[in-house]
Amino acid sequence: MRTKQQYIKGLSKMRRNLYFDGELMDRTDERQTDTLNTIGLTYEEAAKPENEGLCTAISHLTGEKINRYTHIHHSTEDLHRKQDMTRMLCCKAGGCIERCMGIDGTNAVYNVSYEADRSNKGATEYHKNFKKWLTRFQKEDLVACCAQTDVKGDRLLRPADQPNPDAYVRIKERLSDGIVVSGCKLHISEASVADEVVCIPTRALRAEDKDYAVAFAVPADWEGLKQVVTIHNFRERQYFKRGFVPGQTDSYMIFDNCFVPWERVFLAGEWQHGGTLALLFALFHRHSYSGCKPAIGDLVLGAAALAAEVNNIHKAPHIREALAELIMTIELGYAAGYTASDLGKPEVYMPGVGFVPYGPGSYIPNSIYCNVGRCLSGEAVYREQEILCAISGGVTATFPHEKDFKNKDIANLLMKYTRRSPNISTEDQAQFWRYLGDFLCSATGGILNVGNYHGGGSPVMEQIAITTQYDIEARKKLVRYIAGMSGGDRDILAKKQVKYEPPSARAKAAKAPARKATKTSAKKATAKKK
Ligand SMILES: Cc1cc2nc3c(=O)[nH]c(=O)nc-3n(C[C@H](O)[C@H](O)[C@H](O)COP(=O)(O)OP(=O)(O)OC[C@H]3O[C@@H](n4cnc5c(N)ncnc54)[C@H](O)[C@@H]3O)c2cc1C
Repeated sequence: MRTKQQYIKGLSKMRRNLYFDGELMDRTDERQTDTLNTIGLTYEEAAKPENEGLCTAISHLTGEKINRYTHIHHSTEDLHRKQDMTRMLCCKAGGCIERCMGIDGTNAVYNVSYEADRSNKGATEYHKNFKKWLTRFQKEDLVACCAQTDVKGDRLLRPADQPNPDAYVRIKERLSDGIVVSGCKLHISEASVADEVVCIPTRALRAEDKDYAVAFAVPADWEGLKQVVTIHNFRERQYFKRGFVPGQTDSYMIFDNCFVPWERVFLAGEWQHGGTLALLFALFHRHSYSGCKPAIGDLVLGAAALAAEVNNIHKAPHIREALAELIMTIELGYAAGYTASDLGKPEVYMPGVGFVPYGPGSYIPNSIYCNVGRCLSGEAVYREQEILCAISGGVTATFPHEKDFKNKDIANLLMKYTRRSPNISTEDQAQFWRYLGDFLCSATGGILNVGNYHGGGSPVMEQIAITTQYDIEARKKLVRYIAGMSGGDRDILAKKQVKYEPPSARAKAAKAPARKATKTSAKKATAKKK
């Protein structure tokens, strides 16, 4: 495993292809320092003995100890640990830990490349290519971003119908030694500090969209790739330093006739699998949100409770109500992720069929619970900000800049007029409002809110997933029975209900070959696809 310093040294050697505010920028430019320190935590924490097994895992490919961010989940325990690692690290970073796109993208490609090869009856070697790439990725402890979101042009047109054929990243040319890709992915978090870019499709595809069914990985400084970066740092502080300064970047990634050799290609034209890959990455990423959103909730809750104390209103009844609401959102989001981990299997949900075996045996979190949790906590983002705003009053919007507290003409006056609670030092009160200003009403705070709302898919995407996968018809039949209508079925849900499986039964099921276990449903799924 690498150290943070080795990670940064690796970035310093990369080709300059980052554009920021009109100029080329080095990866180790000081404006990227806060982001580098945030990802750096994933290296520092993995090296600590107390985090062994939480931030580290054993590679199923090499048997070596690796950073969990490069791991393929092979048990429900792996899924639980990924969720808990994410919550812990996001708490320590005071926000997004920024390395989850890589683990979510690699887990998705691992499964889909396998299934695509199976459908192609050995004519392709996507999975072999991917495993070779993954082995290096794990050994060298690399950081990957996941480039999924396309620019998408006219939202009502599918990829092949767009007037601009590059509105979605596509295969422009097929050569004997690789493919040439063209298009642009946007909002790609931490691409400017990533070693590798995992590129996958955004949406369900049709046969005519086959050139858009493309997945590959290239180094983030690859020839033909340009990144236009936005950096989201908090306002610099000279005197009143923060405990930790999180940072974040996002990139427009322009693939300008970019050549990708076959050994780095994991899907090239299999449109049905392209759609599954889009959904599977979203699923793994929504599972990550069940770790990070509770952590952001921990920060919101702590900030709300402190704001109430600084204002000396913490005993007022409406504060209890607000804090209870925050706790319910935090822990329901976590509970949904916990259940998604616990029900994880080497299976995916096929509409109309149910869960069917999928991939070479790695574990996939339960789809309903991932989507329910991410939607609930995504929609709560602005409600949480509203609670913070209501409790704190207007102070965060107009709190004087730090140098005013150092100016001898006004410093004492400011200390006199910023004091609220008699029980907290005035210095701490001022430091708290500076923090809450960052979080609640800075430019960066606003950007983070949009990311927390839309990242992993806008709430409407989760609503589509939930309502198409949930068995609403069965509920109608139950109500028909209870109401005494025709066509009712009293037992329908009892038959379908998810039931607790003791650890011994799970261990037995895990040993059995996954594909044989549910052969009938797999057959049904194939028939359905046809
Ligand atoms: C800070 C941040 C970080 C991100 N990081 C990443 C990342 O690392 N990797 C990555 O791949 N993506 C990333 N994303 C992208 C994120 O997943 C998308 O923002 C999200 O999926 C929504 O897509 P969009 O922004 O293109 O929204 P749009 O598609 O532009 O949606 C805008 C509105 O139009 C509606 N709409 C769209 N299409 C239709 C349609 N056909 N019919 C009806 N209504 C429609 C939507 O529901 C929504 O209400 C990030 C986003 C943010 C803000």
